[in-house]
Amino acid sequence: MAVVVTGASRGIGRATAVELAERDVVVDYRSDEGAAAETARRVRDAGGEAVTVRADVRESAAADRLIETAVDEFGSLDAVVNNAGIARPNRLEETTDEAWESVIDTNLSGAFRVTRAAAPHLRESGGDVVFLSSVGGTLGTVDAGYAASKAGLHGLTRALARELGPDGVQVNAVAPGPVETDLNEVILDHLESIEFRGHENVDTHLPEYACDPATVADSVRYLIENDHVHGEILDVDGGMRL
Ligand code: NDP
Repeated sequence: MAVVVTGASRGIGRATAVELAERDVVVDYRSDEGAAAETARRVRDAGGEAVTVRADVRESAAADRLIETAVDEFGSLDAVVNNAGIARPNRLEETTDEAWESVIDTNLSGAFRVTRAAAPHLRESGGDVVFLSSVGGTLGTVDAGYAASKAGLHGLTRALARELGPDGVQVNAVAPGPVETDLNEVILDHLESIEFRGHENVDTHLPEYACDPATVADSVRYLIENDHVHGEILDVDGGMRL
């Protein structure tokens, strides 16, 4: 049972790889080989098999190679977790074409590319696709580009649930609120520094504002292991949408 986790060199991707360690895990990363190797080591320590693959999800050839490696190494593909993501938070007028495109290209188009490459193998195995969305996809938080990329994932989730479901492929998304990772720190620091107001009037309504990556990883596992949840955007946001 092989699972590909994109952007698994740190944060939620790493926690998800470790959470799924009873499977064979393909640890995708973009730049930090050492961090990806550390994720693989933690998967092995948890009892699993792991390989690392440097594949930038912004490139179709890399996405194809990532999936090919999973199938070559482990014989089949049972799940893909589209986790790789970035944010370049800014005000609308200060958002460059380059920043907008890199966010959409990574968060939305990257997930499309990897899932397209995986689809034939998932049809064979009756496997799962999970997208890492965000509460921003519903509430419009962080900034316009990030929220648009995540709202796009909601459409992708529902469209692919319709298209692939009849072939036995379950498609879902997890939409976290704040999670204690590098990305969240970058987002909060930057928005504070530019006095951006997009986060006003949103709260988790829990004593702790952010959850840890393992909490989100547990939700990913739930979606992969449940046989009847399909086309769902699962909020793991501490009640932010209240
Ligand atoms: P981190 O910044 O901690 O980790 C991001 C990971 O994605 C890294 O492994 C990074 O690799 C990888 N990555 C970035 N770009 C690419 C690319 N082009 N190709 C392959 N891998 C790439 O982020 P988080 O763990 O916080 O976020 C993971 C996902 O969860 C994202 O989709 C994010 O939007 C979503 N999310 C996060 C929330 C949070 O509060 N943290 C809340 C809601 C959703 P490298 O180290 O090489 O850059």
